Parts: sequence; C-alpha cells; structure tokens
Amino acid sequence: MKILCYDGKHAREYYDISTPEQEAAAYMRLFLEFDHYWQFYCELEELEPRTACEPCLKDLHRHCEKGNCVCAADSCKSQARAARQRGGREQEQKTLYDKAKAGDAAAARKLIELRKDGEYEVAEFIHINDSIKELENYKQELAKEKKC
Ligand SMILES: [Zn+2]
Ligand SMILES: [Zn+2]
Repeated sequence: MKILCYDGKHAREYYDISTPEQEAAAYMRLFLEFDHYWQFYCELEELEPRTACEPCLKDLHRHCEKGNCVCAADSCKSQARAARQRGGREQEQKTLYDKAKAGDAAAARKLIELRKDGEYEVAEFIHINDSIKELENYKQELAKEKKC
C-alpha cells in the first residue's frame, strides 16, 4: 500500500495512493487546497510571459535592461544568465500550474514535487508493508539464518 502524507498547518493528512487513479486524485486534491486555500501559486498566476526588453527590441543591446530580458544576443546573454535561469524555473512552474488548473493531475504532481522546499508545500510518500507478505518474508529470513 502506498500513502501520500501531507503535513498541513494544523494536521497531518494521509491519502491512499495505491492505484494510479488514487494517486492522481490525491495530488489534484492537494493542488486545489494549495491553490485555493493557501494561495501558494498567486505569484505564478500573475506571471507575465517574458520578452526582450525595449532597447533590445530596437537592436540597442548596449542599453539592455538585463534582469528580465530574454534577448539571445551574446552581450545580453551572459549578463542576464542568472535572471534567466530563475525566470526559466518560474516559467516551467507556470506552465505546470496552468495545466494543473485545467485538470492535469500529472502536472499537479510535478508542480508539488518541484516546490517541495516551500514551508507548507511538503508532501511525502510512505510505503506501508502488506502484513501477510511481511510475515512470509520474515519467516523466510529466519529459516535462512537457521541454516547458517
Ligand atoms: Zn539584447
Ligand atoms: Zn535586453
């Protein structure tokens, strides 16, 4: 049996995710709570598609505003690399967010996993052993030990 464990602010929640359908439903359930109740994704909602800055659009790369510019000219590229990497991650999350909002459970799962370091956005897997199988395994182990 597989369980998804979510440490909410007030209580720990457990979801049975033994089947793919249950797993999809559990992530969608968490996504909806994160989105509507906790509003973890409001910065993604407001994220604008990024473009090149005004000077670069006019081919005046010397005056590039860097930071948020996505211009691919060599002189602009290196300067804006860090900002672009940061922006790339945000854009990736934004894409997943939009898909999840449209009902894509796989995207919801990926988004939740990407953002694991958020204080309340942690969800983890727990494997629960099947007691009958475990007993059998343990008996076999004991039998092996006897032989030695
Ligand atoms: Zn440029
Ligand atoms: Zn620029």
